[in-house]
Amino acid sequence: MMQWTVRLEVRTSAGEVKTTELVTISRPAVVSTLAEVGLALAETKALLAKLQASMLCGQVAAYAAQHRVCAACGILQPLKDRRTRRLQTLFGTVEVEAPRFKVCGCRRATPLAEVTVSPVCALLTARCTPELERVQAELGARTSFRDAARILDTLLPASPANQESVRTRTHAVALRIEADDRQAAAEVTAVRDDTAKVTAADASRPVVMLDGAYIRAVPGHQVRNFEAICGKVERVGHPTRRFALVRSVAEQPHALLRAALQDQGWREGDAVTAISDGDPALPALVRSATACPVEPILDWFHLSMRVHHVQQVMRGLCALEPPPLAPLDRAQIDVERLRHLLWHGHHEKACEALGRIVSWAQDAIVLNIPVVDAKAKRLVARCAELRSYIESNEGALIDYGERYRAGKPISTSRAEGTVNQLVSARMNKRRQMRWSPRGAHRVLQVRAAVLDGRFGHPAIQLAV
Ligand SMILES: [Zn+2]
Repeated sequence: MMQWTVRLEVRTSAGEVKTTELVTISRPAVVSTLAEVGLALAETKALLAKLQASMLCGQVAAYAAQHRVCAACGILQPLKDRRTRRLQTLFGTVEVEAPRFKVCGCRRATPLAEVTVSPVCALLTARCTPELERVQAELGARTSFRDAARILDTLLPASPANQESVRTRTHAVALRIEADDRQAAAEVTAVRDDTAKVTAADASRPVVMLDGAYIRAVPGHQVRNFEAICGKVERVGHPTRRFALVRSVAEQPHALLRAALQDQGWREGDAVTAISDGDPALPALVRSATACPVEPILDWFHLSMRVHHVQQVMRGLCALEPPPLAPLDRAQIDVERLRHLLWHGHHEKACEALGRIVSWAQDAIVLNIPVVDAKAKRLVARCAELRSYIESNEGALIDYGERYRAGKPISTSRAEGTVNQLVSARMNKRRQMRWSPRGAHRVLQVRAAVLDGRFGHPAIQLAV
């Protein structure tokens, strides 16, 4: 038999040394299997728990002893009673002594008033260590609460590793992140002089990319799905900042975006560009966050998809045998020009072209057999869709070609990546997962912070 004994040597500030035995590990003198080689997880957990308990009790006892001395006159305050407090940590729950003392007579307002103090209670301001709370919240934001609890329980003597405590702590951390964001939003400074406004005008202008995502609601909720708004703020020279919110439950939805902008060095009055998919609520959110006019840009990807739909129907018509009676050439040319016109910001010309395509399609409906008729009607519908999309987003159409050549973003495809990272990977892929708007909103706060690396260490790429 071979034995390893781990002894802890504690040296106090007074130079006193005390040795305690933590654990003894035994193995056969000569091992016969691989499993017997080296430390086992259970031994490691026991060792960590004992080390933690010993360290914590020693520290708390020293703290209590120091605070027993009256700060004013220096005498020892009398002991009132001995109590205990429990502290939850990553390395187990530790019960510590929390003696109460009678406040020294020299500091009492009236000699008869007996007041007690409990220094340990003043030190242990929460039931758990900040580190345990942070790790539980981070795991809870990365994976399901149940899995987070299992991971902790598997690897550490952490206390108490159940999904309820992971949920509670994730929510608590989210509330703090949100409160910090509201604080940051309130502290945004304004641009004072116009020169600063001009320099911030273009190259370093923050770009907000927004997109919506649907999350399945818990049964009994008024709707089957509810929307989360996700996005990111990008600015040259700054790390990307993600944000996400469920509008109906966020205390101040715009404050969360405003805080993200502030984090990028944005000041009130600096111009902001907002790229989104045509939902007017999204640029409106940016406007309420900045309290200034915003340059809205319609996402090129969504516009381009609608052009693609028109092209597809037209190609179907061209492929018909025999060809439609109304001559196709002009309409075909107009369809092929649509993308080019919109790419260069000529949306009025694009609408004129759409008008000609529709009038050609109406001729074709009158002149032709049913198979052409059906396709021509579909062409009219697709053109109408594109046209109303263009008209309702007129103020957000730009010369995409020029912006693209300048190396600036024209699409929310990157925001869609954010939706995947923030929402889909945690909330949608597992089909059984249903959320309350409040629960989803809170997990999103922590998840965005974790992915940004605002949580204390670098963001780790998740398997999406
Ligand atoms: Zn005193």
